[in-house]
Amino acid sequence: MTDDFGEKMTSQSYDPQAIEPKWQALWDRERAFAEPNPPPSELGENERATYVLEMLPYPSGELHMGHVKNYTLGDVVAHFRRRNGWKVLRPMGYDAFGLPAENAAIKEGGQPRAITERNIGRIREQMKRMGWAIDWDREISTHAPEYYRWTQLLFLKLLERGLAYRKESLQNWCPNDQTVLANEQVMDGRCERCGAEVEKRSLEQWFFRITDYADALLDEMSLLEHWPERVLTMQRNWIGRSEGAEVVFRVENTEIDLPVFTTRPDTLFGATFFVMAPEHPLVAELVAGRPEEDAVRAYVKQAQGRSSIEREEKEKDGVFSGRSVVNPVNGERIPIWVADYVLMEYGTGAIMAVPAHDERDHAFARQYELPIVQVIAPREGEVDVQAEAYVSSSDKDVMVNSSEFSGMSCPEGKRSIINWLGAVSLGEEKVSYRLRDWLISRQRYWGCPIPIVYCDKCGIVPVPEAELPVLLPEVSDFLPKGRSPLAAAEEWVTAKCPNCGGEARRETDTLDTFVDSSWYFIRYCDPHNSAEPWSREIVDHWMPVDQYIGGIEHAILHLMYARFFTKALNDLGMVGFREPFARLFTQGMIHYRGAKMSKSKGNVVMPNPYIERFGADAVRLNILFMGPADQDAEWQDSGIEGTSRFLGRLWRTVLEAAERPKGVEVTPLVRKAHQTIAKVTDDIDRRFVFNTPIAAVMELLNEITRVPEDPGARFAAETAVSLIQPYAPHIAEELWQRLGHERLWQAPWPSYDESLLEQEVFELVVQVNGKVRDRIEASVGASEQELVELARSSPRLAPYLEGKQIRKTIVVPRKLVNLVVG
Ligand SMILES: [Zn+2]
Ligand SMILES: [Zn+2]
Repeated sequence: MTDDFGEKMTSQSYDPQAIEPKWQALWDRERAFAEPNPPPSELGENERATYVLEMLPYPSGELHMGHVKNYTLGDVVAHFRRRNGWKVLRPMGYDAFGLPAENAAIKEGGQPRAITERNIGRIREQMKRMGWAIDWDREISTHAPEYYRWTQLLFLKLLERGLAYRKESLQNWCPNDQTVLANEQVMDGRCERCGAEVEKRSLEQWFFRITDYADALLDEMSLLEHWPERVLTMQRNWIGRSEGAEVVFRVENTEIDLPVFTTRPDTLFGATFFVMAPEHPLVAELVAGRPEEDAVRAYVKQAQGRSSIEREEKEKDGVFSGRSVVNPVNGERIPIWVADYVLMEYGTGAIMAVPAHDERDHAFARQYELPIVQVIAPREGEVDVQAEAYVSSSDKDVMVNSSEFSGMSCPEGKRSIINWLGAVSLGEEKVSYRLRDWLISRQRYWGCPIPIVYCDKCGIVPVPEAELPVLLPEVSDFLPKGRSPLAAAEEWVTAKCPNCGGEARRETDTLDTFVDSSWYFIRYCDPHNSAEPWSREIVDHWMPVDQYIGGIEHAILHLMYARFFTKALNDLGMVGFREPFARLFTQGMIHYRGAKMSKSKGNVVMPNPYIERFGADAVRLNILFMGPADQDAEWQDSGIEGTSRFLGRLWRTVLEAAERPKGVEVTPLVRKAHQTIAKVTDDIDRRFVFNTPIAAVMELLNEITRVPEDPGARFAAETAVSLIQPYAPHIAEELWQRLGHERLWQAPWPSYDESLLEQEVFELVVQVNGKVRDRIEASVGASEQELVELARSSPRLAPYLEGKQIRKTIVVPRKLVNLVVG
């Protein structure tokens, strides 16, 4: 250790290890950051109430630097608002159910509960050691029965309203985690959690009808003025609303109708073949007893073994079914192929193929030498659709080879074809969504039990509210076997039917943990309510969350689910708002050794060793000084050494200034302090930028060091301490006390005098070799180097400097610059 941290500490030197625990103990003792709910008479008087929230952590291990960034950001906002006169709700909790604890229990032995609670204990300790200003009276954990009791109740409420249902369908299955996954948990065909290639399995599962809210999720984005455009775009794409038509193709010589969804009804005359997904339920029936049956069966079997990735990426292949459909617009017969580039999950599981105007259809047509017929052409110029699909469909494109529709522009043609189809009852206008219903059952142990029993007589029966919670039993074997480990807990599984009193069996799947985190932010408002999940008056007092902070990786999953839940709860009359998070900030990731931190790369940076060596204040300061908070940044040890030195300098400079009387004169240093207050306030409050305020305080400190005799030094030092408090609350509190004050965290945020913001100017005397050659107006705040530059650039000096070298510069601050030339 070569930096000043290695110096021997004296009572006067900066010792974070002595200061920090002292203040933390005080904050803890006084519950300094608790914000109780107002008395009933004041509920709704919330003009100065604000809710600052960061996404809650998974207690899967200890907190790493990514968390430190997230929670320090929230901390700065919370301190800033509190000191600006707001009542700040700033809670914390744990997203405690989920696979990491269960997998750890399988690997190391022990119970997921014990492992989770051990981790929670460690994380809580880390949070206190970081000095984050959290309202610990509102701490919650999603695995506690007093929490998941209400998760179960909300499930029942959604069920009652028809928003939860059970159905058998083909699902994404992670062979590694041995559980189904929601569509949102499949990224590029892989399990979002473990990266395994996802397979398909047919299972009976529980769903939330999030698709009922597809339009609301889109339209009500208008309420989200302060969300990053990037997140809204990702959600919009995920919902994937597209307008088009459903067109019915009849299988030749049968009564079987095969509807397809197309966004391009204007290309109907160019359909030269038809494709069904291998999973399409009618494939078997269409080929039964025909010469093509064996080939089609073999192909379907082969496709089942392929992951969605393979299906997307490999060369297109397929098999002819021997059947044809009739194109409703022109009566032409076109062959039906079975090919796995068409997926059952999207649209109707069948498509009309228009190779001239669709890239994938084009590739398939080339592969099997199927006809390519052009039906769209640009108004100007020519295209060769045999070589390449022409996909444009703007006003500048017209329909060709399309009977009476020829000559119409694409948009006009779409409308006309839809009208025509409607008139002959062979199709209609339709909106399609990429969004699927949210699959919520998981075949794993460590989750919230689904409050349902199955009775032979009564079928699916909800557990009555009075019997909640359905407690998760202790089991000893968590090994995934393709069914929930709970299925083996015979005693627990056996239940009495609430309806007929006969023997029934409990649902053994557990809820997706994203259900737990879809309402936690509401529970924080009323965390100890044991009569109901929350009081609506209290929740409406605090919510929606004024500032939500978290990682961009939650842009779709958590944020979409939380929005859906909130809308459903609003429709149930349980909350008075439509959107949970008024303002969202997504922080960038921390990289280390040139890569994203990840356990598998072994480059996860933990805060603890740095806290031990440099103190929590240095860690907090450094994580926000690394760059703009919304961008990724690389953790560097040299960075924290620098911020630690800055804190040491702050310590010494402020203690020196504390010895001085407080001047009344408006000196340049006083002006500088006011300018710094203005900048820091504007950056945090309006611009939501967190690194530049630190730089501004550093600059102010430099000025104090430069003119320590200035009568404004003490004021400037107090200002520096006050402004750095949200970032480095321990050192700030200690210095504040030594400056003779108390409780900086409760002190009002410093205000600035508008009239002092303007740069003061003075007359700079410019000399060459001691002789006055010019007088120039200069800003009081200018640095020595800036003054020298100003002097050198004076045209009046040119004759004296020509052909000479400047050997020395002498600067008298606020007075003169003397250039010694020769
Ligand atoms: Zn997995
Ligand atoms: Zn029954």
